[in-house]
Amino acid sequence: MADHLTDSCIFCKIIRGDLPSYAFLDINPLSDGHALVIPKYHAEFFHQLPEDHLADILPLAKKIAVASGLDQYNLLQNNGPMAHQVVKHVHFHIIPKPNAEEGLGVGWPQKQVEKEDFAIILSKIKEKL
Ligand code: 5GP
Ligand code: ZN
Repeated sequence: MADHLTDSCIFCKIIRGDLPSYAFLDINPLSDGHALVIPKYHAEFFHQLPEDHLADILPLAKKIAVASGLDQYNLLQNNGPMAHQVVKHVHFHIIPKPNAEEGLGVGWPQKQVEKEDFAIILSKIKEKL
C-alpha cells in the first residue's frame, strides 16, 4: 500500500518514515489533540482514493477519536482550495471540541430550497450513481 507516494508532497514525506500507521498531530492545531489521518497513497481528492485505502481510514479515525478522550469532536475532510484544502494529499482531521472557543468553528449558511428544486437536484445525482 505504500508504493503510491510522491517526493514532492509534505504528507507523502511524513508517511514514508511511519510504519503501518498514518495518523499524526496537526502542526498548527485548532485544539489540543487535533490529529490528521491520511492514506499511504498520494491522491489529492477523496474521490480519487482506491477503495482499499478508503476502507483503512475510518477505523483509524475512530481509534484516534476515542484516544483523544473527549466526547465532542469534529471529523473534517476538505477537497479543493475553496473548500479550505491546503495540503493536496487526502486527509481527515479529527478535531477535539473541548469548549465553545477551541476546536472547529463552523459556518453553516443554510438555504431554503423549493420542493421542485430538491427533486431536480436529486435526479441529477441519481443519474450519475
Ligand atoms: P487542510 O486545510 O488542507 O484541510 O489542512 C491541512 C492541515 O495540515 C493544516 O491544519 C496544517 O496545520 C497541517 N499541516 C500542514 N503541513 C504540516 C506538516 O508538515 N506537519 C503536520 N503535522 N501538519 C501539517
Ligand atoms: Zn502525498
